[in-house]
Amino acid sequence: TEPVLSVRNLQVEFASRRGTLRAIDDVSFDIAKGEVLGVVGESGAGKSVTGLAVIGLIDPPGRIAGGEIHLAGLRIDNLPPEEMRRIRGKRIGMIFQDPLTSLNPLYRVGDQIVETIRTHLNLSEQAARRRAIDLLAEVGIPAPEKRIDGYPHEFSGGMRQRVVIALAICAEPELIIADEPTTALDVSVQAQIISLIKRLGRDHGTAVMLVTHDMGVIAETSDRVAVMYAGRVAEIGPVQDVVRNPLHPYAKGLMGAIPTLAGEDKRLVQIPGSMPRLSAIPRGCSFNPRCAFAFDRCRVDRPEPLPQGAQSVACHLYDNVPAESAA
Ligand code: SF4
Ligand code: MG
Repeated sequence: TEPVLSVRNLQVEFASRRGTLRAIDDVSFDIAKGEVLGVVGESGAGKSVTGLAVIGLIDPPGRIAGGEIHLAGLRIDNLPPEEMRRIRGKRIGMIFQDPLTSLNPLYRVGDQIVETIRTHLNLSEQAARRRAIDLLAEVGIPAPEKRIDGYPHEFSGGMRQRVVIALAICAEPELIIADEPTTALDVSVQAQIISLIKRLGRDHGTAVMLVTHDMGVIAETSDRVAVMYAGRVAEIGPVQDVVRNPLHPYAKGLMGAIPTLAGEDKRLVQIPGSMPRLSAIPRGCSFNPRCAFAFDRCRVDRPEPLPQGAQSVACHLYDNVPAESAA
C-alpha cells in the first residue's frame, strides 16, 4: 500500500554570502500508516530542515531545490502556500521542542484546541469542546473538564507538551512531525511523552516522523530509524537491526553511545572530530575525515544508498564495484 509520506531525492539549499549551501542533499525515505520513523543525527545534520520541508515551512533564503514530497500520493512540495496551510494542522500535525511555539500564552488551551478542531472539522462549538475534553483525557491530563479552561502557563512543561500533542492530533492528521518533543522535559516526564507518541501510531494509525538527537528516544519509540549525517541519510532500516547491527561507520559510533532513558549519563557521540559545516562538506563521503575505515575511494566518490537486507547504507564498504566503473 501507498506510504503516508514519501520523500524522494529531496534537496534543500540556502543562499548565503558564501554562495549556495546544500543543507539536504538527495534524501529519500517513506513512512507507512501507523509507523514511527525516527530521524537521528547530530545538530546540523539536516533532521529539522527535513521536517520543515515536509510541512512546507522552508522560508527564504532557503528553498527546496530538488526532489518530491508526497502525502498519501498527493504531491505537496510545490503546492501554493494557502493550500499547504490547510494541509498543516489538518493532515499534518506538528509537535516542537518548545510547547510555547504551538500554544498562544494569551488564550485558554481549550479555546485553542476548539478553534483548531472547528477550522478543520465540521463540528459545532459544543461538539468541538466535548472532543477537546476527550483529547485532553486521552493524552493524560487529569480533570480535563476543568483544565480545558486553563492558560498555558498554568501547566507544567510535561503537561503543556501533552496539550500540544492533543492540539496536533485534534483534526486526525495522517502524519505527525515531532521535532525533539521531549528534549526540554525532565527525564521522568520524557518516558511518558514517548509512550504517548508511540500510542498515536498504534491507536490512530498516524504516521510519525520523530526528529531527535537522542538515540535512546528512538530505540524506545521507533519502528524504523534514519541516521542522518551532513544532509544525507547514512543508514536507514528497522530500529532493532540498526541498533543491534549498525552498518555505517557513523551509525556504529552513534549506537555505541546510546544513553538509557533512566540514566543521567547522556554521553555524547564517541566519534573523534565534528560534523563538517555546510560550507565545507568534504568531497567523496562527507564522513571520511572522521572515519576509521576510510580508503582512497571515500575521498573521491560519494557513496549512494545500497540495500543490505532490510537496511540501506550509504558506504563504500558495502559496495564491491571498483571506483573506475562507478558513475
Ligand atoms: Fe567511511 Fe568510506 Fe564508508 Fe564513508 S564511505 S563511511 S569514509 S568507509
Ligand atoms: Mg533541530
